[in-house]
Amino acid sequence: MKKILNYIGGKLVEPASGQYLDNFDPSRGKVYSLIADSDAQDVEAAFSAASAAFPAWSVTSVEERSRVMQRIADLIAENVEELAKAESIDNGKPLSLARSMDIPRAEANIRFFGTAITHWSSEAHVMEDKAVNYTNRKPIGVVGCISPWNLPLYLFTWKIAPAIAAGNCVVAKPSEITPMTALMLSELCIKAGLPAGVLNIVHGLGTKAGEAMIRHPKIKVISFTGGTQTGKHIASVAAPMFKKLSLELGGKNPNIIFADCDFEKMLTTTVRSSFANQGQICLCGSRILVEKKIYEKFIAAFVEKVKKMNVGDPLDATTKTGAVVSEGHMNKVLSYIKLAEDEGGKILCGGNRVMLAGELKDGYYIQPTVIEGLGPECRTNREEIFGPVVTIQTFETEEEALELANATEYGLASSLWTSDVSRAHRFSAKIESGIVWVNCWLLRDLRTPFGGVKNSGVGREGGWDALRFFTEAQNVCIEL
Ligand code: NDP
Repeated sequence: MKKILNYIGGKLVEPASGQYLDNFDPSRGKVYSLIADSDAQDVEAAFSAASAAFPAWSVTSVEERSRVMQRIADLIAENVEELAKAESIDNGKPLSLARSMDIPRAEANIRFFGTAITHWSSEAHVMEDKAVNYTNRKPIGVVGCISPWNLPLYLFTWKIAPAIAAGNCVVAKPSEITPMTALMLSELCIKAGLPAGVLNIVHGLGTKAGEAMIRHPKIKVISFTGGTQTGKHIASVAAPMFKKLSLELGGKNPNIIFADCDFEKMLTTTVRSSFANQGQICLCGSRILVEKKIYEKFIAAFVEKVKKMNVGDPLDATTKTGAVVSEGHMNKVLSYIKLAEDEGGKILCGGNRVMLAGELKDGYYIQPTVIEGLGPECRTNREEIFGPVVTIQTFETEEEALELANATEYGLASSLWTSDVSRAHRFSAKIESGIVWVNCWLLRDLRTPFGGVKNSGVGREGGWDALRFFTEAQNVCIEL
């Protein structure tokens, strides 16, 4: 069976313990490869390789750093098909989605930061005839990047790219649930000639390999994307060690639909924003809030469309809904559907596991599920489900819509549907979320600040924010 090895010091290596974990294909519910079960020894080896590489990499010209990153991006582009297939098998997502979104975005992340670094300039502050200050933005050293399973290569590269572009060396851990494309990235980095030790990938469990990273005294930066509880734990370990932290956490995003919206566009996008990647995108709108005037019309049209979403083999070109990522996650999502019923919710469609035939019979499939009749106080409307499940609530006034939208501890993203421009500005200013999409969803410009408020995170990724995060600003003041 294929072994997913660590990438340390420019080489693919076995874990120090010699132990491996099972890696599942969720569409078939079968083990299909083995993952290095790394521990503190592997993290130490990765740290040593990274710190040995840092003196040279940190003074490598930005042009050269950019060149090698472009070569990695080119190789991702040349291998889209293989990478997309691997992502689909490892995660359960439709191949069509991996091919059109995940892998092109991974390429774009590397290209974007590999280019951005060549356009970066530092600030100067002139004190009339007294002095001139300039800001040196220096790479920090060895940084740690930890990413989740929902958009594996997409989010892994989103962290690594700005870190290495800025001149740092990286110890990274992809989710143990979806490690395959990170292994393939290691192979492409070797092929592209990325100097040994600049990027080191340690596979394995969050509670073992991840824990060793966050506790490592010399890994001074942790960039983490994942669940809010894990983020809380990481902050509790890393903050007393004065580590620099970026936390991109969970969401319970509202999708607010006013009667004056472009109904057809809203409807098509809302199906996507609810169920893309089986609802396993931190930006998916899981709470749909609809103005009462169009509630019945919306429910009828939305449910009709959702019922037509075929659940099937992720590798089949016609599949729109694949498998959820693991058996444990499937059971968690199903338990939330049961909770919604216990709380008095009415299931308008879906609600069950889907049992497919043949070699897919043990796969982890759930029907896209729509629930109404639950208020903002219910756990179903407060806790992150992270699956193909949405609730629908209704409102009559803008104030009521805002109150419902903000009735959550999370604050990552929101979507607003209205043709009233004044309302769009007014509402966006008052909604508690780091990202607001007006009349669209998941339209991304990599230069924009990305991140959440409240329990959805601390800090911003994207554009200059990411390059600032991965550098230390030093002010140099020269008296004239
Ligand atoms: P987890 O928090 O369970 O895991 C995220 C990563 O952290 C994994 O690599 C995991 O390893 C690792 N990890 C777990 N425990 C520790 C630890 N003690 N120390 C260090 N690392 C650890 O999240 P999921 O993978 O389940 O991802 C889903 C979550 O991610 C959702 O809440 C979702 O909203 C959020 N998310 C947020 C995004 C954002 O931009 N704000 C984007 C995408 C997802 P292992 O896999 O081995 O457990």
